[in-house]
Amino acid sequence: MPTSPGDLVLDARDLHKTYSTGRSGLRRSRVSAVDGVTLRLHAGESLGIVGESGCGKSTLARMLVGLERPDSGSIEIHGRDVTRVRGRDRRLLRRQVQMVFQDPYTSLDPRMSVLDLISEPLVVHQRVSGGAARRDKVAELLSLVNLAPELMHRYPHQFSGGQRQRIGIARALALDPEVLVCDEPVSALDMSVQAQVVNLLRDLQRRMGIALLFIAHDLSVVRHVADRTAVMYLGRLAEIGDTTTVYEDPAHPYTRALLSAAPVVDRSRRRLADRIMLAGDPPSPTNPPTGCRFHTRCRFAQQRCAEEQPVPRPLDSGLDRTVACHFAEEISASVVPPTQVGRPATVR
Ligand code: SF4
Repeated sequence: MPTSPGDLVLDARDLHKTYSTGRSGLRRSRVSAVDGVTLRLHAGESLGIVGESGCGKSTLARMLVGLERPDSGSIEIHGRDVTRVRGRDRRLLRRQVQMVFQDPYTSLDPRMSVLDLISEPLVVHQRVSGGAARRDKVAELLSLVNLAPELMHRYPHQFSGGQRQRIGIARALALDPEVLVCDEPVSALDMSVQAQVVNLLRDLQRRMGIALLFIAHDLSVVRHVADRTAVMYLGRLAEIGDTTTVYEDPAHPYTRALLSAAPVVDRSRRRLADRIMLAGDPPSPTNPPTGCRFHTRCRFAQQRCAEEQPVPRPLDSGLDRTVACHFAEEISASVVPPTQVGRPATVR
């Protein structure tokens, strides 16, 4: 479906996903992996998602590409809810959203040549007919990711990790998707090639006008890639907004803590003067805290926080930023005295 820059491509609303983790006594225990996440992606934009491991980033990604079914909520692609359509319509819509996986060592079938790996989705979706057309399309895709077309007859074990990830990207681009979901696409790679792959993704996104959803735990990578950034905590969105605003002026206490813990080469760029230590470990997702899920670790927590779930709401007029915190305005305007750093959260 043709799109123009800025068109709404993917509209995910109020997504929920829980998993069964077996029985605990007579009760079946469940993990709440994603709890009420809403986000939108427009043509040509990149959205980064950050958060601690286990916060639900990957589950969210897998729902968006159709590898997991949400328990509830909707995922609209060009206004059509893919969770409700079936058959050919579903396949056509799903084709618009493709995924680049984290580990290029396990995501490529070692028994398949590069030609077969990249052309498989083209064959399945009947986008090419005949061997020559297949080879031409694969050569084009390999060139797109800066690999020589002559390499198409080799097998995954003959490539480095960075090259394998390029093959994974070429495969994801084979069906001309409008959205590319990248789940930690460089975390399994050597530092020396991470920047090359990140720059390739950014370059492809700009040149092809696709929307990029980029999940990473490395905050500096997300800052480099993303136009907008979403911060997740224990299955919920804490804050989402323009990347510069979120990084330079974080409003949610969890965003502030996360950013303050990230290494900064140039200390003059750090807005948060001291590292903010979070009290305690992340709560178990099988038994998440009531109200605001961050209240057990938040130094600003009040009684209301333990009782009432904060609804994500716009914070600043004129700025693209939504924050899920009852006291975002006050906290955003406050300066945390260094003496409070590391103080355990209390609920009064
Ligand atoms: Fe902290 Fe309360 Fe805001 Fe949650 S709602 S982040 S506990 S101040």
